[in-house]
Amino acid sequence: MIQDIAPHRFDNSYAPKKAEADDLALISSGRQILTAIADEQLHLPVMADFTAMQQERMRYLFAMDEKSCYGAFMSPDFGDLPEGYIFIDVRYLRTIQPKYLAFAAVTAVQLLDWYASRAYCGRCGSRMLDSEKERMRICPECGQMEYPKLSPAVIIGVTHGDRLLLSKYAGRAYKNYALLAGFTEIGETVEETVRREVMEEVGLKVKNIRYYKSQPWSFTDTLLMGFYCDLDSDDEDVTLDQQELSMAAWYSREEIPVRYEDCSLTNEMIIKFKENR
Ligand SMILES: [Zn+2]
Repeated sequence: MIQDIAPHRFDNSYAPKKAEADDLALISSGRQILTAIADEQLHLPVMADFTAMQQERMRYLFAMDEKSCYGAFMSPDFGDLPEGYIFIDVRYLRTIQPKYLAFAAVTAVQLLDWYASRAYCGRCGSRMLDSEKERMRICPECGQMEYPKLSPAVIIGVTHGDRLLLSKYAGRAYKNYALLAGFTEIGETVEETVRREVMEEVGLKVKNIRYYKSQPWSFTDTLLMGFYCDLDSDDEDVTLDQQELSMAAWYSREEIPVRYEDCSLTNEMIIKFKENR
């Protein structure tokens, strides 16, 4: 999965320090990141590629191996960008190598987008400040505290004997097979999310819900939790929520189409079921 980057190490402890010339500089603009792509490899700029004034605008984000990573959200007055670098959509980071830099880039986009959307207090409108102790924004007027935005969501592998329920999203750019998925709502456990989403999206009851693994999914500010569960009925007919899905159907292990990619929890769960691991 995208976060499996060993032997590289992602260190998210909040320890701002003075930047070195060869520390990574991650500049985002909405859901885009400043990169250069050469020989199908991702290259990220370093602090020395930017003017002193631009470096001043960058904040400490996290560390990757021995290097600290700093970043800034692009603004009209940021000045000229270093030559040879362009903004690319985060979607391209799903497949590009090296993976540890793609992971750093998408994580930076999530964090910088959060900082940009928390410039002002949502309660009283005052300008917010960074906490000195942790990765948190605090309002000096009313004390409102804000932590990075993370929305919990579930990925659901519904099984029925030798078969797995595969689906496709309606009206989205992503056209490959997916598993059912949905955000956890206020006041429910993630197991309840599993039951509710399966009922809403395909009209089926499930049992024997078991946790598999989780995945930080910065593309959508999400923390994904993967579950398998079994159909709790002899009736396997799907009632499709056509707002959410374009199709959903049962596939035997033999029929499940193979798409080996090394990025998403969804695909890992599909392959794991197919290979009966
Ligand atoms: Zn406030």
